[in-house]
Amino acid sequence: MVKTILVTGGAGFIGCHLCKELLNSGNIVYCIDNLSSGSFENIKELTKNENFHFSEHDVEDYYQISEKIDEIYHLACPASPPFYQKDPIKTLDTNYFGTRNVLELGRIKGCKVLLTSTSEVYGDPQISPQSENYWGNVNPIGVRSCYDEGKRISETLMIEYERKYNIDIKIARIFNTYGPQMNKDDGRVVSNFINQMIYDKDITVYGNGNQTRCFNYVDDTVEGLILLMNTKGVRGPINIGNENEITINELLDVLRYLIPECKSDIIFKILPGDDPKQRRPSLKMAKELLMWKPKTELHDGLSKTIDYFEWLKNSV
Ligand code: UDP
Repeated sequence: MVKTILVTGGAGFIGCHLCKELLNSGNIVYCIDNLSSGSFENIKELTKNENFHFSEHDVEDYYQISEKIDEIYHLACPASPPFYQKDPIKTLDTNYFGTRNVLELGRIKGCKVLLTSTSEVYGDPQISPQSENYWGNVNPIGVRSCYDEGKRISETLMIEYERKYNIDIKIARIFNTYGPQMNKDDGRVVSNFINQMIYDKDITVYGNGNQTRCFNYVDDTVEGLILLMNTKGVRGPINIGNENEITINELLDVLRYLIPECKSDIIFKILPGDDPKQRRPSLKMAKELLMWKPKTELHDGLSKTIDYFEWLKNSV
C-alpha cells in the first residue's frame, strides 16, 4: 500500500536516509526541515523524485498540510552536542513546541506518530547495558540538559497524547549512529576523526579516550525505525543501536587501520561537561519485538563513511 508520510528533520543525517528508503518503497514523502543542522545537499537527489515534497519549515511553527497523512516520523532537532548547545533555549523549544505541534497534527490527521528520542535520556548511566526500563541519570542543569531533558519532555508529551487522545505513538531511542551524509562539521567523534585524518589535522581525543560508545550504521538505524513504525502493538520506548561497545581510543585504532596513510598527531583535550563515561544499549526488546538487530560490521560501515568524506573532499 502506498502511504503518505511526513518526515520532520528529513534533510538531516538520519532523516535523508529515511526519506530515501521510504521513497524506494514507493511511498509519497513530505519532508520538512529548517536546514539549521541538516542541508539541502542531503536531499537534492531526492527532489528529482515526483513523490518527494520538501518545504523549508521550522517544526516550532505549526505545519499545515491538506493531504491525508498516514505516518509521521518526527526527527527534527539538532542532535550533536556542539549544535544543540549553540542555542540551548531553541533546542528546548524545538523539543517542546515542535513535538507538541507534530502531535497536534497527528491527532487531527488520525495518523501514527514516531518520535526519534535518544540514548541521552539515560544521561551518564549508572547501569550497563541500558534497557528501556532504566530511568537514567540526567543532570537537569548541565550543558547537555537542553537536549537530554528536551527529549525526555518530548517522550512525556508523546505518552500524554496517547493517554488523552489515544493516538498511535511510537518512541525509538536512537544510540550513536554514523555513516555517509553525516555533517562534516557536526563535531561528532566519527566525523571529526575521519576529517582530521584525511585533512592531516591533529586528532582531538576528549578526556583520556577511555569513555565508551556503540556505533550503529545509519542503514541499520533506518531499518529499525521503519520496523518500529510498521510493527503493530509495539509502541516503545525501544532502543535502536548497536551492542558493540568500544572506547574512543579503540575507535581511533580502527580508523588508523582503515586510513594507513594518515600522518596526523593525536592531541588530548578536556572532556566536555557531563560527557557520559559509558553507553551501550540493551537490544533485548528490539530483537524480541521487532526481530531486528544491526547487520553492518563497524569496519564496513566506517569504510563507507571514509569513502563519503573522501568524495566530499575531492568534490570541493
Ligand atoms: N569525542 C572525542 N573527540 C572528538 C569528538 C568527540 O573524543 O573530536 C568524544 C566525546 O567526548 C564523547 C564521544 O567521543 O565521549 C562521542 O561523542 P559524540 O559527540 O560523537 O557523541 P555523544 O557524546 O553524543 O555520544
